[in-house]
Amino acid sequence: MKITFYGARGSYPLSDATQRQFGGHTTCFHVECTTGEHIIIDAGTGIRALGDRLMQKEFGRGEGVAHMFFTHTHWDHILGLPFFNPLFIRGNTFHLHTAKLPYANIQGIFNGLFNPDIFPVPFNELDAQIELTELKPPGSLSIGAATVSYMQINHNNITLGFRVEAGGRSFTVVSDNAIIELARMGDGFAKKYNADPEGFVQSYREAQRRFALNTDVLVCDTHFTAETIQGREHWGHSTPDEALRLARECTPRHLILHHHDPELPDTEVIAKERYVQAALEGTDIKAVAPYPGLTIDLGDT
Ligand SMILES: [Zn+2]
Ligand SMILES: [Zn+2]
Repeated sequence: MKITFYGARGSYPLSDATQRQFGGHTTCFHVECTTGEHIIIDAGTGIRALGDRLMQKEFGRGEGVAHMFFTHTHWDHILGLPFFNPLFIRGNTFHLHTAKLPYANIQGIFNGLFNPDIFPVPFNELDAQIELTELKPPGSLSIGAATVSYMQINHNNITLGFRVEAGGRSFTVVSDNAIIELARMGDGFAKKYNADPEGFVQSYREAQRRFALNTDVLVCDTHFTAETIQGREHWGHSTPDEALRLARECTPRHLILHHHDPELPDTEVIAKERYVQAALEGTDIKAVAPYPGLTIDLGDT
């Protein structure tokens, strides 16, 4: 299993001289299984560069098949999709997987993203074949030799965490998510919390721990610092301390400090990385702040 990060910025894309090292592109991860499956998680602006890379492979010849999983449909996780060139090659097939949303129509969201008044090619006229699947968490599905599991995490409406398993390796994404003790963001969470605050928090934490347990690579939301989250606990994001807490419970080999606040210059992202690395000293967990082009090749077991 080889994982490449194409975007690590949260909320919105940007380009600033103080943010060159970690880039301004928003969320997109590519998982390439040694058995050939392509799994893409999120279509933030980072996906444009992934598209260029895939065009040099079977996707440029119209022979590509990929599965795209969306954690949720906030702008920073879908904005790059219209600029993903393999969509405009006949013969390619893309299976798009999103949460089934109680208050919105997924087809309508994609139609809107490609609305002819804001983009020249409508969603239903893309050259590639598009298959849309809506997921009801928790659950899992098989894609060739890979398995993708999903659970609802603590962010607006229904946001999904994903765990991809293949060849004895695993890649787990738990982002975007708020700290459960501070805010209940997911659809249905407030009701369950109000009925039994302690029980709900405990069962959510336990489900998250089991979901990410002993994974090779764990992507966590580290948008805020302990200071910047003050008054923004309900914005749907976490801190490095929250990532550390999950990492200590789940013992991944690699901890990815994802979703950099768009206001953070490189120096502060480096400070975040050093803070977490210092806290994990003496453990086998390697912490890294991701940037476009970061690749982790796990091989097979
Ligand atoms: Zn986000
Ligand atoms: Zn979001």
